[in-house]
Amino acid sequence: MIEVSSLALPHIAKLHAYTPGLQPTGSGWVKLNTNECPYPPSPRVAEALRREIGEDGASLRLYPNPPGAPLRAVVARLHGHGLREENVCIGNGSDDILNLLVRAFCTREASAGFTRPSYSLYPVLVGIQDGGTDVIAFDRTMRLPVEQMAASGARAFFLTSPNAPTGVGFSNAELERVLASFRGLLVVDEAYAPFANENAVPLLARHPNVVVVRTLSKAYALAGLRVGYALAHSDVIGLLDRVRDSYNVNRLSQVAAIAALGDPTYYDGVIDRVKATRDRCAREFAGPRGWFTYPSAANFIFTEPKNARGESGPEVARSAYDFLFARQVLVRHFPSHALTAPFLRISVGTDREMQILNATLDAWLKTPNA
Ligand SMILES: *Cc1c(COP(=O)(O)O)cnc(C)c1O
Repeated sequence: MIEVSSLALPHIAKLHAYTPGLQPTGSGWVKLNTNECPYPPSPRVAEALRREIGEDGASLRLYPNPPGAPLRAVVARLHGHGLREENVCIGNGSDDILNLLVRAFCTREASAGFTRPSYSLYPVLVGIQDGGTDVIAFDRTMRLPVEQMAASGARAFFLTSPNAPTGVGFSNAELERVLASFRGLLVVDEAYAPFANENAVPLLARHPNVVVVRTLSKAYALAGLRVGYALAHSDVIGLLDRVRDSYNVNRLSQVAAIAALGDPTYYDGVIDRVKATRDRCAREFAGPRGWFTYPSAANFIFTEPKNARGESGPEVARSAYDFLFARQVLVRHFPSHALTAPFLRISVGTDREMQILNATLDAWLKTPNA
């Protein structure tokens, strides 16, 4: 018998896959674990999908527009700042874009930089490439380690901003201080930028080594369709297009994304509601409950639960997580890092969902072993 796994590249045989948040199949869950939008997408999305499918789905015989050119043009126009179609690459989710960036820029010698904690997909993508890493640790303040980043020799540095799972946003002034010395590619992963006060798009015109990565999964309520994009200098986009699968974004996702981006009024309303719910809940956690909570510039809250005796820590967070889970309230716990283990990350849901969350946490506080 051939031992087929021994045929794999050694670094692939040792690889640990990314752990996505649980996607439960049954009904009845209050799902606050993967930062999806609690509201549906713009009604224009379903209309556009119906139009594309038509009576008999005949258009599905045909391959999609290979670069997603019409969508690139819409994205460029949406962001302004002199951006043009050649400054945009569309991905099958922003994870696809992050993957292309690692493929194009990182090897063992040309390391990939990232902070810890941040989006845990980066080390997995670098592992597939058997690449080197340059990891910069946050301390409990979660303030950006500007000097260390500026001194990093990474070929590409992946910065999640606002950060995940903390929700802490970083300013363009801080990024400019990094860019004053950093000579690699600074990839600003802005999955949560629509919920923040500032974003890095204005830096693109002055800094050819900045890449801004966005997704339609969070603010645009299209996680199920997988659309993300990169904004960058046309030379960077050209490199990504050499690595990219020719048909990486399907027809339906392209038309849905164009419809969504064409309805900013609808999404302004969605984002305002999510931010209002976030700010009210964060005040309740920090105020009446007295739980340490980072200021969030995203659509989730990172909070440190305290039990009835006022204790916090990894076991307390785990106890709250388990109690919620048993009652079909799903949040996220990251036990593998000392700075995240005492916390829970709670996606901002509807007001009703947050009421259920709060009532369940009150019940947890009343249990003897909380
Ligand atoms: C959700 C998320 C992504 C992935 O977005 P997709 O477009 O769904 O692939 C990327 N980066 C960060 C920081 C995220 O939180």
